[in-house]
Formats: sequence, structure tokens, C-alpha cells
Amino acid sequence: VKNILSNSNRLLIIGSVAYDSIKTPFGHAKNALGGSASYFSLAARQFVRPSIVAVVGEDFKPRDLKTFQKFKVDISGLQKTKGKTFRWGGEYSFDLNSRTTIFTELNVFEGFYPLLSDSHQNSKYVFLGNIHPKLQKSVLSQIRQAKFVGLDTMNYWIERTLPELKAVLKLVNLLVINDSEARELSKEHNLYKAAKKILVMMKLNSFLIIKRGEHGLLMFHQNSIFNLPGYPLEDVVDPTGAGDSFAGGFMGYLAKSGNITFENLKRACVYGSVTASFCVEKMATIQLQKISLIGIKERYIKFKALTNLGA
Ligand code: AMP
Repeated sequence: VKNILSNSNRLLIIGSVAYDSIKTPFGHAKNALGGSASYFSLAARQFVRPSIVAVVGEDFKPRDLKTFQKFKVDISGLQKTKGKTFRWGGEYSFDLNSRTTIFTELNVFEGFYPLLSDSHQNSKYVFLGNIHPKLQKSVLSQIRQAKFVGLDTMNYWIERTLPELKAVLKLVNLLVINDSEARELSKEHNLYKAAKKILVMMKLNSFLIIKRGEHGLLMFHQNSIFNLPGYPLEDVVDPTGAGDSFAGGFMGYLAKSGNITFENLKRACVYGSVTASFCVEKMATIQLQKISLIGIKERYIKFKALTNLGA
């Protein structure tokens, strides 16, 4: 019985575990722990115990393994293989909205074929983080009976692997992308038109979240739209991982509450945004490692007040 209960909200993330080199107008970091699975799991840990499926190289530091262990992230699906850990370098302009990728070194990801353990195959909530769509699909095919599957991607994959991406889009319940990616995927400038086109690419009754950086997000489902502003922040230091920590907070809350309605997904959007708002206040994952659920709940209440019409 215990096993069945613990499986009911089990959250699995497949994504990258990386060493990031980041330069922003307000700080820099070299070889900092990053990657979509790292940000996602360090955000989701506030709500459930997330499991990571990813690969790292021989150079992956024990210190970084300890970080996951400290926060009770299940790393039994984190493979270590010969070669170097995935590396990514990015630089931000002064307004922090535009980012230039300086380098992407796939390294151990090039030969990565994820094989899920029996327990991971029973995950009910799955997030296919930003990696090759072929890997996303292969993971999904190993899951026995998911309750809710989310997907992230980026321009890198839209430009290089569109047919594979479209194939995996048909299999998920939620796509989370940013505005420029939504435009690129749909070939539509207007986000409302873009959303309509993207929902058609997905299976019936799916959800689409378009992130708009500091301006918040739009969520689409059937004929409903939810428009959430960004949380007002005075000190943004490093936007890296904002998208992944949004997804982690969102999926973590969803897995914990177990309620997949549009109304509850709106709450998940607020939890995701609040979690991401902490992430960007310090470099890399520093702030995600510091925050607690109490702080998240405080900001959730402030967020509600911010958008309350009063009557
Ligand atoms: P975000 O700022 O939420 O878009 O995510 C940034 C993270 O994505 C960084 O920590 C990078 O290591 C990771 N990343 C960047 N490019 C890729 C890629 N092509 N595949 C997988 N992960 C990536």
C-alpha cells in the first residue's frame, strides 16, 4: 500500500544536468551547477520528492551530487558515463531579456540513452525537460501510465529537430515555451494566433503555457485563457533557469495536489512563477538552494493581492 501511495504523486524529470558559464550585467559564474533537470528538481523539491533522469560525465563533482542529496532529490536515475558533463555558456544584455548562447557542448548527452528503472516507469507526473526530442520520446514510451506529462523545448531543437519535436508534442498534456519559441514554432507573430496553431499540433484538451519573461505568462486550454503578470522584482541578477524553475514549481504543486483542472493549473502557474522569482535573484541555483516553502507561500499571498480586483 505504501508503494502505491508514494507512486501516486511521483514526479520524474528528464533533462540536462550541466556546468553553466553565465555572464550577466550583475554577475558571472563559471562551471556552476545548471541544466534543466537541476533547476527543475531544486524548484519542485518544495512540493514533492522529484526524481532526475539524466547523464553526467566523469568530471561531475561529488559536491554537486551532495547538493541533490541534501535536498532529497532522487538521483538514482542520474547516470555517470565516460566523457565530459554537458556544458553551456550564455551571456545576457543589459535589459536581461535577450540572451546569447556562447557555446553548447553536448558531450555525454550525445551517447545518452535513458533506461528507466521499474520504479521510475511508474511515475504519474512526468516533465520532459529541454533536451533532444528523441530522448524525450524514448523516456515517455517507458512510462506505464502517466497522469500528466509536460514538455519544454527551445529554439535549438525547433531549428534542428522539428519533425521529432512535432511527434513528441502529440503525446503530452502540456507544452511550456517562451514567446519567441512560440512564434518560431507556429510561424505566427501574434501570440493568440500562435497559441491556436500550437494547440492544434497537440492532442485534444492539452494545455499551453507561453512564458513572457518578466511580463508573466499566458495559459491556453480549449477556449480559455489565463493571463498572469510577472512578479514585481527589484533585484534580478541572473535569469538562467527561470523557465525550468517555473516548470519545477508548477509540476511540483500539481503532483502534490493531484488535481488537473484549469482552475488548479492557474494556482500551479502562480507557484511556478513565485519559485522562478526567487531563482533569478541570485546567480545560478544559489537562491533555489536557500528558499523554503514558507517564503514561497508568502509570495503567493502577495501575488494574489497584486492581481485582486477587490470586487
Ligand atoms: P532556461 O534559462 O530555463 O532556459 O534554462 C537554462 C538551462 O538550460 C541552463 O542551465 C543550460 O545548462 C540548459 N541548456 C541550454 N541549452 C541546452 C540544450 N541545448 N539542451 C539541454 N539543456 C540546455
